[in-house]
Amino acid sequence: MLHSTWSPSYADRRAPATPADVDAAVELLRGHRVLAITGAGISTDSGIPDYRGPDAVPRSPMTYQQFVADPGFRRHYWARNHVGWHHMRATRPNDGHRALARLEQAGVVSGVITQNVDRLHQAAGARNVVDLHGHYDEVICLDCGRVISRRELDARLTALNPDFLDTLDVADVEVAPDADAVIERTAHFRVASCEACGGVLKPNIVYFGENVPRERVARAYEMVDDATAILTAGTSLAVQSGLRLVRRAARDGKPVVIVNRGVTRGDEHATMRLNAGTSETLTRLAETLAP
Ligand SMILES: [Zn+2]
Repeated sequence: MLHSTWSPSYADRRAPATPADVDAAVELLRGHRVLAITGAGISTDSGIPDYRGPDAVPRSPMTYQQFVADPGFRRHYWARNHVGWHHMRATRPNDGHRALARLEQAGVVSGVITQNVDRLHQAAGARNVVDLHGHYDEVICLDCGRVISRRELDARLTALNPDFLDTLDVADVEVAPDADAVIERTAHFRVASCEACGGVLKPNIVYFGENVPRERVARAYEMVDDATAILTAGTSLAVQSGLRLVRRAARDGKPVVIVNRGVTRGDEHATMRLNAGTSETLTRLAETLAP
């Protein structure tokens, strides 16, 4: 079950990684089939804030139980999501996403498992991608299981709330990695229900308190087992869904390189840790391993 109360218990006193540190990581990964595991930190350079990063403001993410139990909560959620989605769909991949796609094309990276829901790896051209926590661009009916595109739902939400987006100041909106934007004025927002059965619609995203679908977990483990090394980028590995993949690889004796600003929950499994941003580090890896 997706759940985490983890936060670093000690400060990260490491100096930022030097070019020599990055070159050492290159040499460690050279010749391997590398599986990349990514998190919110890889998308911050695309303008999507990382709410777990070292500079993040603590906030409590919505739980699945809150969403299911409380219609008022759902109204508030969908109002925020309506704004967040319009921001999210305008975001573009950055150098980190592009570097991983290039490494995949060169056969260095075997695939990407991401905890992000933003689809930016695919937008950058990556092909073998598992969106561990789902996708922001799909919506599922909790009653009949029908999946529709978020774009299709947007047309309905906009028709139900024609002036909603116009009445907001940009300052009212804070966009978080789950396409969840913080707004105060949501009380009159009108929520759409499933057109097939009238049921409750939910973004096709795995929330706290919810399980990652079994077949998706199995696919992720297959990718770990198929790789000979792991590269994590922009994730503190705070939730089990990502951490357990790193544990599995480390248990099997595979090298694990962690690229992240700040400490991570997986540090004890790391062969090498780089205190570094993902865009510049992954670009350097791609320049060297996939010239
Ligand atoms: Zn339905």
